[in-house]
Amino acid sequence: MASPAELLATPAATALDLARLRDDFPILSTKVHGRQLVYLDNAATSQKPRQVLERMRVYYEQENSNVHRGVHELSERATAAFEGARSRVRAFVNAKEVREIVFTRGTTESINLVAQSWGHANVRAGDEIVISTIEHHSNIVPWQMLCAATGATLRVIPVNDRGELELDAYRELLSAKTKLVAIGHVSNALGTINPVREMIAMAHSAGALVLVDGAQAVPHLRVDVQALDADFYVFSGHKMYGPTGIGILYGKAALLEAMPPWMGGGDMISSVTLERSTWNVIPYKFEAGTPNIADAIGLAAAIDYLESAGIENVEAWEHELLAYATAKLSAVPGLRLVGTAANKAAVISFVLDSAHPHDIGTIVDQEGVAIRTGHHCAQPAMNRFGVPATARASFALYNTKDEVDALVRAIEHVVEIFG
Ligand code: PMP
Repeated sequence: MASPAELLATPAATALDLARLRDDFPILSTKVHGRQLVYLDNAATSQKPRQVLERMRVYYEQENSNVHRGVHELSERATAAFEGARSRVRAFVNAKEVREIVFTRGTTESINLVAQSWGHANVRAGDEIVISTIEHHSNIVPWQMLCAATGATLRVIPVNDRGELELDAYRELLSAKTKLVAIGHVSNALGTINPVREMIAMAHSAGALVLVDGAQAVPHLRVDVQALDADFYVFSGHKMYGPTGIGILYGKAALLEAMPPWMGGGDMISSVTLERSTWNVIPYKFEAGTPNIADAIGLAAAIDYLESAGIENVEAWEHELLAYATAKLSAVPGLRLVGTAANKAAVISFVLDSAHPHDIGTIVDQEGVAIRTGHHCAQPAMNRFGVPATARASFALYNTKDEVDALVRAIEHVVEIFG
């Protein structure tokens, strides 16, 4: 790894045309408190390019209708666009079959779907579910609820002081009792990229399935669910330049086919009598009711956008921003990084000796810099590092080194105020 001085001396080198990309995001020219917005809260949600907004406007103006049910032209257009979006998602994560892609409201709903449907059908008293210390609450609480309902036990992979999962301890946790391992691909609180491919292989050797929470991975890294051999892979549209309210559950076809539905209603049935109903084929069995058609189509446009920028280019640029920010922030007196894993993506979490994270967030906001402060829905991770909260800057493809400089100036200002 280059020294901090070398990193700071390296000029911006990216295959991305940052000026053109930034122009695609109307909100980036907004002023807040009279200052130019510097948006560094991308792990919470990213901004949306015109291409996504425009695609959704076209949908509502020219194609809007309900899907799967009508024979009229508009319903056919809406169905084609909606199912086209599903195919786009399949290609994006390289799922084998399009029916392995279930539309949900987001990562949280996808995990709850698996916990309730697969979990209640397969998990019994005495079984174990393995998670890690640095999971988002949405990959902890549904498993706690499942364990409480079934009498299964939750086991937890520890992390070292850099925020890396301890793989030896993980190996020890795996046994014939392990039914499922549920792990994040990239930690939203610390930025750690977990070695999920290796962890999946280890779980499979123990006979366990693996769900990967990819909410913080898909915007930053190339994901191939077949190469990973993930059993379930879940993510949200809104963190990857797409709209809110849409997300994905990828599941291997045989698993999804064997799972019972979780919500009942229209579209998820094949036939209904007053005595009993039979279920539709996958993925529709898990999509009760009118789906979020417009946002699924918006998500497909976001995937097109990300792919046209080139996910490898995005990954390389965000890595450079992360290294630059790490070097600059580390030089601020009294600043401590939380999460210093060797393998990190797009997230930098820190605390100051002198100021509480909430004060940091409020003061930098006055300078136009949007960062997140708090526990980031990862309280066990905060407890592990002995802090109630951190300040977190997180990057997207449109961020620049000038914006990192603005963050650092704002943090230096906080240090001046608090001494
Ligand atoms: N997992 C991780 C790692 C996340 O960062 C988030 C969002 N902060 C979620 C799950 C939950 O995603 P959503 O709120 O879109 O359901």
